[in-house]
Formats: sequence, C-alpha cells, structure tokens
Amino acid sequence: SSLVSPLAAPEERDAEASVRPKRLAEFVAQERVREQLEVLLHSAIKRGSPPDHILFSGSPGLGKTTLAMIVAAELGGGLRMTSGPAIERSGDLAAILTGLQAGDVLFIDEIHRIAKPAEELLYSAMEDFRVDVVVGKGPGATAIPLDVEPFTLVGATTRSGLLTGPMRDRFGFVGHLEFYEGSELAVLLKRTARILGVNATEEGIEEISGRSRGTPRIANRLLRRVRDYAELRAEGVVTLDTARAALKVYDVDDIGLDRLDKAVLYALVVSFNGGPVGLSTLAVAVGEQPDTVEEVVEPFLVRAGLLARTPRGRVATAAAWRHLGLNPPNGIF
Ligand code: ADP
Repeated sequence: SSLVSPLAAPEERDAEASVRPKRLAEFVAQERVREQLEVLLHSAIKRGSPPDHILFSGSPGLGKTTLAMIVAAELGGGLRMTSGPAIERSGDLAAILTGLQAGDVLFIDEIHRIAKPAEELLYSAMEDFRVDVVVGKGPGATAIPLDVEPFTLVGATTRSGLLTGPMRDRFGFVGHLEFYEGSELAVLLKRTARILGVNATEEGIEEISGRSRGTPRIANRLLRRVRDYAELRAEGVVTLDTARAALKVYDVDDIGLDRLDKAVLYALVVSFNGGPVGLSTLAVAVGEQPDTVEEVVEPFLVRAGLLARTPRGRVATAAAWRHLGLNPPNGIF
C-alpha cells in the first residue's frame, strides 16, 4: 500500500482516531459545508426535533466519517456506524433501524453500495420512521409494520451521482467536500502536530502540505512518517530539510507522486513519446494491472494536469514532460 493512497490502511485506524476533530469548530476548512451544517444542526436543536437526513459526498480521506461523528456529537445523540457493503440482507438493516433510540445518528458509509431490497426498506424509515418487515415466505408471507424512533441518517459516498434518484431525493442536505488547498492542509497539520506533540517548523509543515494531494488523510500520514524519520535523524524536529530528506526516503516527490505514479508518467513520456497509448499497453509497460493504473494511479495524474484521457488513448501534457525535467515537444499543451 502506498504512502499517498487516499484509503486508510487497517493498522492506521487508531492513529487516525486520535487526531479526529470532535466538534464542528475544530474541523478545518470546508467553510461552506461547515456553515450550512451549523445552521442545519443548531436550528434542529432549537426546535427539539432531528434535522433532515444528511449526505456527504467527496473523495476518500476528505473528512466524511469525521463529519458524521461530529453531527452525532453536536446533536448529543448516539451514533451507530455501518456501511453499504456490510448490509447484505434487508433484515440486517431492519434490526439496526428498530434498535435506534430517539435522536440517534445512523451513519452508512459507501451508501451507494447498499443492496436494493435494503435500500427500499431505508426509504420508508427515512420518510415515515417505520419499516415493513416481511415474515415468512411465499403466499403466507406477511409484512409487519414496525416503528422506528426519529433518527438522522448520515450517508457518505464518493460521488452523489452514484446514488439512485429516489435515494438522493430523501436527503434534505447534501454537503460536497472539496480537495483542500495547501494552506488549509498546513492549518490542519499544525493541529495534528500539536495533538501528537510533534515539534515542527512552518516550512516543514508547508513542505508536507504541498505533497499531500489535497487530502487530510494523506497529510496526517506523511506527518507521522516524517516525525518517525525526524526522531531517528533530527532530534524529533520536523524542519524543511528533515521533511525533504524523509520524503525522499519514502519516495514521495515534490507534488506527491510515488514510485508507481512516476513509473507510469515516465513510460508515457519516454517509452511512448507522450502518447496517445492505450491503457493496457501502458499498464504492461509498468508491470501493473490495467485496473490499478486506471483506478489508483490515473485519477491524481489527471487532477494534477499531467495526464489526459482521450478517445485515442492516454496522453502526457506539457506539464508532465516538465515534471520529469524534459522539454515538451512543440505543439503540446
Ligand atoms: P473519509 O471518511 O472522507 O474517508 P475521514 O473522515 O476518515 O475521511 O478523514 C480521514 C482523516 O483525516 C481522519 O483522521 C480525520 O480526522 C482527518 N480529517 C479529515 N478532514 C479533516 C478536517 N477538515 N480537519 C481536521 N482533520 C480532518
């Protein structure tokens, strides 16, 4: 697993939990979502009834789970967490829903991956706070209506377009999380450094921010790794030089590309003269599966403006040539 993957490795869950903001005021950046959420939650508290159901969309590592926990904390209710893929049968979901207490928050991560029958059960729970549980099979089957206590559903998805229309319509609030600016990640990292008791200079923090691909999860992970290096080699202080030296050891370049990203870019530019080249040919050239190249490597290369996907194949931009220290051929943008 790569140091710049936006997904959490199982062994870093505890490290992540220890730096998770607990209240809205501690959550860094995402001004718009934060302000809208504050109004939504505090008006609901004033009225004494649960707020509308909430959907968070955005790439992995941008803070969706954190916000779900914050919603429960701000509302002062209990939190039940599950995920779309974990709900295999609608009975599993019915058990969760009927076990909720008034004012609880139910968080469903990857809600777009929920099975169809469970999704339909969720509609009536969201709308009318009741579910019909089917008992028995065939002609003798009966639906028993069960009440669900008033609760707030918080769903998370990477893109709201992945949800079915009826599902999306049942959320009264959709908060879209954007990638973070370098300066926002610097604020976030100062907070993390304070919590972890890491001594870091402004320049050290900025260096890590700039290589974190706009993603808090990656920024926090790089800080932990640079801290390790600093403890062994630099008396624990994260300076510009230690950050640079550490990230060189970990193979994370100055814009956050790792070894595989660089290999793909290098193959595209040097072996295929900038493209266009088909995905599978490019994948073979770096010894990876096409899926890995397409889903793990390319999204960031595209976002960073280094690679373009065209109908004729993958193409390197002029910025890609320059990033590798080469002159782009004439006529390339
Ligand atoms: P997601 O659910 O979108 O994949 P998480 O909520 O699990 O992301 O966030 C990943 C890590 O980044 C967590 O440790 C979290 O505390 C931290 N994080 C994310 N967004 C912020 C933020 N705005 N301020 C502070 N820390 C954040």
